[in-house]
Amino acid sequence: MRKIIQLDDALANKIAAGEVVERPASVVKELVENAIDAGSTIIEIEIEEAGLAKIRIIDNGDGIEESDVLAAFQRHATSKIKNESDLFRIRTLGFRGEALPSIASVSRLEMKTSTGYEAGTRVVLEGGKIEVLEKASSRKGTDITVSDLFFNTPARLKYMKTIHTELGNITDVVGRIALSHPEISFRLIHNERKVMHTNGNGDVRQVLAAIYGMSIVKMMVPIHIESLDYKVSGYISLPEITRASRNYISTMINGRFIKNYPIARAIQDGYHTLLPIGRYPVVLLNIEMDPILVDVNVHPSKMEVRISKEQELTELITNAIQSSFKTKTLIPSGVPST
Ligand code: ADP
Ligand code: MG
Repeated sequence: MRKIIQLDDALANKIAAGEVVERPASVVKELVENAIDAGSTIIEIEIEEAGLAKIRIIDNGDGIEESDVLAAFQRHATSKIKNESDLFRIRTLGFRGEALPSIASVSRLEMKTSTGYEAGTRVVLEGGKIEVLEKASSRKGTDITVSDLFFNTPARLKYMKTIHTELGNITDVVGRIALSHPEISFRLIHNERKVMHTNGNGDVRQVLAAIYGMSIVKMMVPIHIESLDYKVSGYISLPEITRASRNYISTMINGRFIKNYPIARAIQDGYHTLLPIGRYPVVLLNIEMDPILVDVNVHPSKMEVRISKEQELTELITNAIQSSFKTKTLIPSGVPST
């Protein structure tokens, strides 16, 4: 008798959700990344009880055609890659086709979406099961509400930390995404209170000011350096400004914020002995490279990457930071706060 069975989709999605949807901030990250991939210029994020009660993301992007709506909730279904060669040239934030089915499998989810050309669609799912599918208004864009996250995964729900911690994680994620996309306006609202707003005018200094405050931004200097393979730019704090954790270091590769120890190390090496032990700078680093040089298909959260020619990049970063203190051009004051 056969003992091995193929798990049904609902169960497979729930298992995938264990990795993709670690906590409310992961839901926010995945949904906001979808909004960015859809070409949105304004993204609004409304949260209740640090996302455990409600996460709503409203965008003005391309929307989803009625005929595609159900496919969007199927596993490994994506509009972003088609074949193996696309996998090595990823320009979008998403590509795994896992977020929507995973999130839907551990929540109650409502999505209203329209391309603006035809009637919109409204779909409601509970624990991944489709409850409602109907026509809806045709405002261009997508409006997704995720309620009662982890209602059917009690162990995960129990593992959640305090509202304060979970909200901190969400604010951190939205802040980093806003830093990587200064051309998009983001608004984050928690329990009807505005937490963050960026105006989307493309000026990254204004995003830095919205997140860290103007007094920090005034103590940051621009950096810019290029090699054949890499273009590194951003802002770094003068050694006088330090923080007790690495959380103030944001690294983006091709518009995606990532965590990478060798890069973090390279930044610290750039400061060399200028920082006291256990203190870290405030840094925003944008790295542009041919997507062929970076593998983002390492972990479902897409935050870890493997970089080819890593040493060339880390040396470039260290040099860029070292040389910027020699010139010490301060950001001109008078950046309006948002
Ligand atoms: P992925 O982002 O990896 O493609 P997802 O499960 O996150 O997978 O989304 C599945 C598909 O649904 C996407 O490829 C995209 O076509 C569509 N989609 C999801 N969110 C949005 C959105 N906010 N606007 C437009 N299309 C979306
Ligand atoms: Mg996605």
